Amino acid sequence: MKAERKYTQIMSKRGFKMYEDKTLVCKECGDDFVFTSGEQEFYAERGFQNEPQRCKTCRDNRKAAARGPREYFTAICADCGNEAKVPFEPKTDRPVYCSDCFAKTREM
Ligand SMILES: [Zn+2]
Ligand SMILES: [Zn+2]
Repeated sequence: MKAERKYTQIMSKRGFKMYEDKTLVCKECGDDFVFTSGEQEFYAERGFQNEPQRCKTCRDNRKAAARGPREYFTAICADCGNEAKVPFEPKTDRPVYCSDCFAKTREM
């Protein structure tokens, strides 16, 4: 049994606590997910007191959300007339430049 060997190795190397895979329920989506022995060890080494509340998918989603949703608006570049994608809503009273032209205006 490979898994058992791994546990014994952890035991003998660290000489204390033995971790076993644990199934937890994600509080975000309600799905079961596995808090693996490796992750438990990782948490313990860093002194985390709490078990993870969310499955990996939800944690990744939250990380992505924390970075902020990137919404792009399409406008016409006031300089070259090409389609320009801008991270803000284009205002009619201000010219919008594509990234190329915008870079040029900043160089000047
Ligand atoms: Zn989840
Ligand atoms: Zn342009």
